[in-house]
Amino acid sequence: MSEQENNGIYKEFRKSPVLIAGPCAVESEEQIKRMARIVSGMGIKFLRAGAFKPRTSPRSFQGLGLPGLKFLRNAADEYGLKVVSEIMNSSLLPECYDLIDIIQVGSRNMDSYGLLKAIGKATARDKKPVLIKRGFNATLKEFLMASEYITAEGNPNVILCLRGIRTFEQIDSAMRFTPDLGAIPELKDMTSLPVIFDPSHSTGNAAYVESISAAALLLGADGLLIEVHDDPLNALSDGTQSILPQQLENIIRLPDKKRS
Ligand code: PEP
Ligand code: MN
Repeated sequence: MSEQENNGIYKEFRKSPVLIAGPCAVESEEQIKRMARIVSGMGIKFLRAGAFKPRTSPRSFQGLGLPGLKFLRNAADEYGLKVVSEIMNSSLLPECYDLIDIIQVGSRNMDSYGLLKAIGKATARDKKPVLIKRGFNATLKEFLMASEYITAEGNPNVILCLRGIRTFEQIDSAMRFTPDLGAIPELKDMTSLPVIFDPSHSTGNAAYVESISAAALLLGADGLLIEVHDDPLNALSDGTQSILPQQLENIIRLPDKKRS
């Protein structure tokens, strides 16, 4: 992808809110093709899925790795979609670089400064957009400083993604994290970088994904990153928070502040 094309992708986040949707993980070639068809059929342009999964337990599904990323790339190309996917360590960069259109840095890696530097250096040439998720125990200033590791290397195309934080609510809440909705307007006052919201990981519960999406858009989010699965009960990861395609249709129809 040329610098011009990458700048074009990034500019999408300056217009109306961008939807990034897809399953938590690439589970098989067939599954990601099905999801690509569903997502593109809704007019969504960005397909997300992890091939390298940062799982809490080493015994949980870790993702399909490079073959999974290739399935994702092929599925996205078949349906004219852009790929958003996570890189967990810098050694993966060379072989994965051309397979991803927006490189995701996960919440657990927000303060992996070696990884951030390596991604900053690698993307400085062609300005490939980088999506950084807020560490779930990072302050907003720490989050912004992490983004500066990319911009300082010469790539200004950074997208910030809020994805919920750890609070005492997790003692008895049905949500996995506390949606950091208030950070949307505050972060937008602190930076000119696009700020998107992830209602899936922030709630960890499909029942709340639609209402939190609506709130995020009203608060001025520049986009949403949403996990969707056509068989959430049998998903290999994050099924509890994955919404069905029909529920995603409702979110697409939500009003947004940018449009009004
Ligand atoms: C993801 O988006 O696939 C993910 C693992 O999210 P987070 O890093 O926010 O937990
Ligand atoms: Mn997930």
